[in-house]
Amino acid sequence: MDQIDKYLEEIQEVTGVEIAGGVLIYLGISAAVFLSQLAMIFATFASFMKTAKKNSELTRRVNKVMKTSGWEVVVMKHNMPNAFAVKGKTIFITNQLFKLINKDEVIAVALHEVGHLAGNHVYYRSVASSLKFGVVLPCFVFPPLAWFLLLSLTFVQNRTIGRYQENVADSYATKYGYGDQLISALQKMEKYINKMAPDNPIARTLRKIQEVFDEHPPVRERVERILKEKESIRVIMSGNVKKIKAHLTKKFSMT
Ligand SMILES: [Zn+2]
Repeated sequence: MDQIDKYLEEIQEVTGVEIAGGVLIYLGISAAVFLSQLAMIFATFASFMKTAKKNSELTRRVNKVMKTSGWEVVVMKHNMPNAFAVKGKTIFITNQLFKLINKDEVIAVALHEVGHLAGNHVYYRSVASSLKFGVVLPCFVFPPLAWFLLLSLTFVQNRTIGRYQENVADSYATKYGYGDQLISALQKMEKYINKMAPDNPIARTLRKIQEVFDEHPPVRERVERILKEKESIRVIMSGNVKKIKAHLTKKFSMT
């Protein structure tokens, strides 16, 4: 009996050390991935800034809408109409975006990007993906498991944190009164992407897979959400208590 107890104790000790070692390795890998992602964020920002030029009119308008002064809109040359935020208070707009959408819509898109920056979304995303790689990288001793984990965890990350952040950024533009312009910008961009995408069975299948993993919710869902939010803002701003009460009851009703 004594021997069995001793044996069990030994196993527990080994297991304890192993768990502690495993956790340390996991945290070490995650921290290393996070640091390399930080380095990438700073390097990407610096390389974008090399060709980017400040757009005074957009900078002035974004700050005026938000009653702030620190945001800066810069334009960079790129063959795709796009906008993105990397770090700090700088919003990148590609020159091609101006060919696709009008100035008010560009402001709406810029406000969406401000939402990402104000919420430190890039950093939260980096932390999440570092924790993911902390699990995935050691599993590459058995690649099929590693790939399975990578795909499943990416799916979960994009569909939870990613989509949540996109909705928060959309709300930012809506809150500042640019919901309609954001809707038309999203619709124009979607139309453009659909027109540009190759139309064959393989490309269509790949697009469907990409949509499943995409951290951006489908445009149709985003439009519905923005419209609902606009309605909430309109009712709340009306100051009519009866209307607000009815609206909130409808919104949070479980039936
Ligand atoms: Zn976004």
